[in-house]
Amino acid sequence: MTSETQLPDPLWNDLKARWQELADLGGIGSLLGWDQSTYLPAGAAAGRSRQQALLSRMAHARATDAGYGRLLDAAQSRTDLSPAQTRTVALARKNFEEATRLPADFVAAWSQHGGDSYSAWTTARPDNDFARMVPFLEKSLEFSLQAASYFPEFGDPMDYFIDQSDEGMTAQGVGDVFSKLREALVPLADAVTLAGPPRTDFLSRHYPTATQLSLGESVIRDYGYDFTRGRQDLTHHPFMTRLGGHDVRITTRVKAGDPTEALYSTLHEAGHALYEQGVLDEYLGTPLGGGVSAGVHESQSRLWENQVGRSRAFWAAYFGKFRDTFPEQLADVSEDEMYRAVNTVARSLIRTDADELTYNLHVITRYELERQLLGGQLALRDLNDAWHAAYEQNLGLRAPSDVDGALQDVHWYFGSIGGAFQGYTLGNVLSAQFYSAAEKANPGLENDIARADFSRLHGWLRENVYAPGGRYTPAELVERATGQAMTVEPYLNYLREKYGELYGVN
Ligand SMILES: [Zn+2]
Repeated sequence: MTSETQLPDPLWNDLKARWQELADLGGIGSLLGWDQSTYLPAGAAAGRSRQQALLSRMAHARATDAGYGRLLDAAQSRTDLSPAQTRTVALARKNFEEATRLPADFVAAWSQHGGDSYSAWTTARPDNDFARMVPFLEKSLEFSLQAASYFPEFGDPMDYFIDQSDEGMTAQGVGDVFSKLREALVPLADAVTLAGPPRTDFLSRHYPTATQLSLGESVIRDYGYDFTRGRQDLTHHPFMTRLGGHDVRITTRVKAGDPTEALYSTLHEAGHALYEQGVLDEYLGTPLGGGVSAGVHESQSRLWENQVGRSRAFWAAYFGKFRDTFPEQLADVSEDEMYRAVNTVARSLIRTDADELTYNLHVITRYELERQLLGGQLALRDLNDAWHAAYEQNLGLRAPSDVDGALQDVHWYFGSIGGAFQGYTLGNVLSAQFYSAAEKANPGLENDIARADFSRLHGWLRENVYAPGGRYTPAELVERATGQAMTVEPYLNYLREKYGELYGVN
C-alpha cells in the first residue's frame, strides 16, 4: 500500500525532517513537564524551569526559522500535492504564522505579565480580593486584544481565540450552540434537582488507594488503553500528555474517602489517550500527528468517562468486580444504587465539582462573560457583579464570596482572556454525537459494554475519529464520522433520556 503522504520528493522530505524535529522538541518539552508534575524533587524546580526555558527558546527558533518559512512557501506554490499533503502544509502554515506574527518583545512582555498575574492571583484568591486583580485583568485584556490584532483576518477577537483551539469555529457558531443548550438545560436542571438526591453515603467510606488505582487501570485496559505505549502516574491535577509517537501517558489523583475521584479522572484521561494512541503511524511526527481540536479531544474524554463510564451497562459489567474488590465497603449497596450515586445532580457554585447536567451552565456563563469583555460591553471592574448575576440566572445560585465567583478558575489569571472554556462544552456536545453514530453503526453496542467488551466501540472510534489525527478540519471530521454537522440534538436526547429516567422527570 502506498501512503498518500509519502511521495519521493526532496521538498517533502525536507519538510518532514523539520516537522519530525519540531515534534521531537515538543515531546522532550512534554517529558520535562510530565516529570515536573509527577516525580521532580522539590529542590530541583529552579533548575528545571531553566531547562524548560532553554528548550522553548530552541523550539521557537526552529518553528520560526526563515528557511522553514521558505520551504512552506515553496510547498504552497505547488499544484501537485495530494489532499493530505495540502492539509498538512496548511496546518504547518497556521502554526508558523502563530509563532512568527507576534513580535518577540510583545511575547516577552505578555509572558512576564502572565507570570505576575498568576502569582498575584495565588494570594488574592485566599484573601477573597477580586478588586486587587482588576488592574491585572485589564492588562490581560489589553494584551489579548493586541495579540488578536496581529490576525486581522479574524475580525472578531473572540473568533481568533476560538480558532486557536477549535479550528474553524466562530463566536457566532458557539453562541448558537450555547443558547440552544441553555434553553433546554436550565429547566431540566430545575426539574431534576427538585426530585431530590440519591443515596451516596457509601461513596465516602474508606477505599484503599492502591486497590483503587489497580482497579481503574484494569478498566482502561479493557477500554483498549495500551500500557506498552503509555503509563499512569499520580499528580495533583490529572492530565494526558504525548511524549512521543508511541508514548501517551496519563496521570490521576486518588482519595481514600471517595472512589469516584480516581476512577472518573482515570477514565477521562484514558479517553484523551485513546485518541492520541489511535492516530495513524504515518501521520506521527507531522502536523497531522495528534488530536485535531480541543472540542474533539474533550469529546473523547467525556465519551469514555460519561457516555460509557456512567452508564447502566458499565455498572452491569463492573459492579460485581467492584464489590469483590471492596466487599465490606459495598456490602449493603446494589448495582442500581451505584449507578444512581455516580449520576448525582446537584447545583453547585464550583465548575470542577459540577455534574454532567449542570456543568455546561458553568461553561456557558464564563464564555458569555469573556465575549462581553472582549467586545467591550463589560468593564473588568464590573466582572464580579456580572458573574453573580449570571449565576443567579443560569444556576439559581449566588456565591457568598469572590473566591467562588470570578476568582474561581485559574484560566483568566494566566495573562490572557478569551477562548478558554468553550472547548469543554463543545466536547460534551460532540461526545453524544459520536457515540450515537457509533451505536447506529454497531447495533447492540450497549450489550457489548455490559460484558466489558469495548472492541466494537473502540474500533469504530479509532477508524472514524482517532486514525485521521489532524487530516481533516474538525467540521469535516464530524461530518465524515457522523453524517452531519455538529448538532446539539444527540446530546440533549442523551441527557433527557438518562436523567428523565433516573429522576423520574421528563
Ligand atoms: Zn479533558
